[in-house]
This record gives sequence, structure tokens and C-alpha cells, in this order.
Amino acid sequence: MSEPSPARPVVAVIGGGYGGTAVAKALDDIADVVLVEPKDAFVHNVASLRALVDPSWLPRVYFPYEGLLANGRVVTDRAVKADVGQVTLASGEQIRADYIVLATGSAYPFPAKSDVDLTAAAHDKVRAAHAALAGARRVLLIGAGPVGIELAGEIKEVWPDKGVTLLDVADDVLGERFRPDLKAELRRQLTEAGVELLLSSPLREAPPVPPGERREFTVVTQAGAEVTADIWFRCYGVSPVSDYLAGDLAGARRPDGFIEVTPFLQVAGQDRVFAVGDVSAADHKMAGIAGRQAQVVADNIRSLITGTGSLRAHEPTEPGIFVPIGPRGGSGQRAGVDELFPPEAVAQAKGRDMMVDRFRELFGVTGQAPGSAR
Ligand SMILES: Cc1cc2nc3c(=O)[nH]c(=O)nc-3n(C[C@H](O)[C@H](O)[C@H](O)COP(=O)(O)OP(=O)(O)OC[C@H]3O[C@@H](n4cnc5c(N)ncnc54)[C@H](O)[C@@H]3O)c2cc1C
Repeated sequence: MSEPSPARPVVAVIGGGYGGTAVAKALDDIADVVLVEPKDAFVHNVASLRALVDPSWLPRVYFPYEGLLANGRVVTDRAVKADVGQVTLASGEQIRADYIVLATGSAYPFPAKSDVDLTAAAHDKVRAAHAALAGARRVLLIGAGPVGIELAGEIKEVWPDKGVTLLDVADDVLGERFRPDLKAELRRQLTEAGVELLLSSPLREAPPVPPGERREFTVVTQAGAEVTADIWFRCYGVSPVSDYLAGDLAGARRPDGFIEVTPFLQVAGQDRVFAVGDVSAADHKMAGIAGRQAQVVADNIRSLITGTGSLRAHEPTEPGIFVPIGPRGGSGQRAGVDELFPPEAVAQAKGRDMMVDRFRELFGVTGQAPGSAR
């Protein structure tokens, strides 16, 4: 069992995604940080769809944790139980902590997020899906939110002649929160790239083939339209990971799995337990927001440790998004900006390098990334 040191408080951060790594790094100088994460590398899932169509990107999606912390430690294990002051790992190890940060994020279907803990095996899974996709003539993407749109654009960029159908039960792309003119612009670019849009089209039955496997199948929409494809991917379904909350923390877990927090991002009813990122009920589910929340949580824990200053609240954000369509296309909106962002601005902000450089810096990776010529 790890005991808290009297001099430096122990901060246990559960989950090493965008939110957890940022909190851990920010408190490394003032606390004994223990970052618990079952994966052996940080997964920059913002770039995961690029790696599916071009596996030379894999080294720019997976970053080993070694370079993250100067003082703290990263424990490669899964939290199976978290209660106030104590975290139990799958190995049986118990970590006593003065502060706990819940940063276990959300699960999302492959290939957008990875459910494989070891990097080598995760790379193999992406390469196998790439090979299956490369051999398919027609692709069905179910879900026309940001992930479906982005994946359609990635596929068309690499294989312009592949048939791509983007299907959704909703009557428009992207989801409800965003501006109609942004949706119209994305529809325009997708259609121009040759993507077939099938909106307002619930299926009578799910495809009879597992996602990511190459085998011809036909599905029928409730309106009677038939779609025949050789492979399909599920592009919907964010589910928060919070099943390990126990004891006094269990009550903060909402029926939908998100964790209730105060404006200071403390878990409801707690002073020294915080939640950040996708698992928290606060705000939208985006890496950028997880990063901003991480800064608030780190500042608040620092204030509690030093006894100086009051706690700071997280300000929920207005909807904003960049949606790339391949490395050169896409559009986006930002709060307070009337114009949509043109393809070049989206390419510069995200589509071209998929924000890889900031994570190379965070994880202390030097030199040019393999395959970075594209
Ligand atoms: C394809 C795609 C593109 C995206 N593009 C953007 C974008 O351009 N901009 C943007 O802002 N957002 C984007 N997002 C959303 C963004 O990825 C999420 O909002 C982000 O991952 C949330 O970060 P997080 O740290 O809360 O959780 P996660 O990134 O989900 O990390 C959670 C971590 O916790 C670990 N974990 C889970 N359970 C346990 C446990 N029991 N014990 C210990 N560790 C555990 C997981 O292994 C994981 O590493 C994109 C998402 C996808 C899928």
C-alpha cells in the first residue's frame, strides 16, 4: 500500500487521457502524483481516424507515458474501486490519497477510440482494420456526427473511388448543438467529395456483420432503401466510464453514468475528490474542454494544498468545433465569430497535423515523427 507522505500530499489521478495527464503534469511539482492508467501509452484519439487510413500515423497517436512526469509515477493498472481517500487497483494494490481526480473519460467504438491496453496490440488492430478497409469497395458509416463526417473525409482523401455512405437517423449531420450553416457547409463538402448522405434513415436491423470486418452485406432502411457495403463502422455512442465509484462516491454517479460535479469540479458532496473531462457531467465532451477543466482542477487542488486563495469555477463553453474533411477540407464554428472557418483554417488548426505537436511536447518526444512527411 502506498502511504501519503507528510510533506507532500498524494494526488491520485485515475485515467491518463487528455484531462488526467494535464492535471498530473500540472501538480507534479507540488504533490506526489500517482497516475493510474491501464494503457501503456497515452492515446491521442483526435488523430485515430487518420491512423486508420494511413497507419504510418500510428506513432503520432500513441505516446508512452515515460516522459510525462518528472517526480510522480505512472501505474499501469486499472482502478476497480475508488472511494474517498482510497483507490483500489485490479492488481489488488491500494493507493491512499489526499486528493483524487476522476479522469476516466468515455468509451467510444473502434476505430475512433481504442479498447486495447497494449500499444503493440492496439497498432495491430488498427493495421488489420486498415487492411480490411483498403480491400473494401463500399463503406457504410453509421452515425453522421463529427466522427462519421471526419471518417468519411479521411476515407475519400485516401481512396477517392471507394463508395462511402454516411447514414443517420437524424435529419441532418453533426448533431443538434451546432449552427445550421455549418451543417450545410459540411454536407456540401461531403457531397462534393462523393460521399452519399442517407439522413432520416433508421435501419430495420443492424448490419449482420461485425463492424470493421470485410464481408458483403445489405441493410434496409425503414423507408425501404437498400444499402449494400463490404465493411461498416459504428460512428456513435459516447459512454462515460465511471463504474468503479464506490462508497461515498457512488451517489455522485448519475443514472446515465456521468459524474455530478460542483462549479469547482469537485465531485458532488466532496471537498477533495474532483472529476474532469468526458466522465464529468459538466460541459461538452471534448479534449479541449477536458484540458481547460484540468487546469481548473489543478489550480483548485494547488489552492487547497497551499491554503492560499479560493477555488475557481469552470466556465461552461459555448459550442465550437473544427470538423476536418481530410487534411485539406472541413469547416468549423467558434463562439462570438460570425463567419464559419474556411477549409484552410480548419486544415491549419487540426486537419493537417491533427494537433500532434502539442502532445509530442507534453510527452517529451523529440525528433521528427516516423511517417511525418504526408
Ligand atoms: C475521432 C475523435 C476525434 C476527436 N476530435 C476532437 C477534437 O478535434 N477536439 C476536441 O476537443 N475533442 C475531440 N474529440 C473528443 C475527445 O477525444 C474527448 O473529449 C477526450 O478524449 C476526453 O478526454 P478525457 O481525458 O476526459 O478522457 P479519455 O481521453 O477518454 O481518457 C480516459 C482515460 O482513462 C482511462 N481509464 C478508463 N477506465 C479506467 C480505470 N478504471 N482506471 C484507470 N484508467 C482508466 C482510459 O484508458 C483512458 O486513457 C475527439 C474524439 C474522437 C473519438
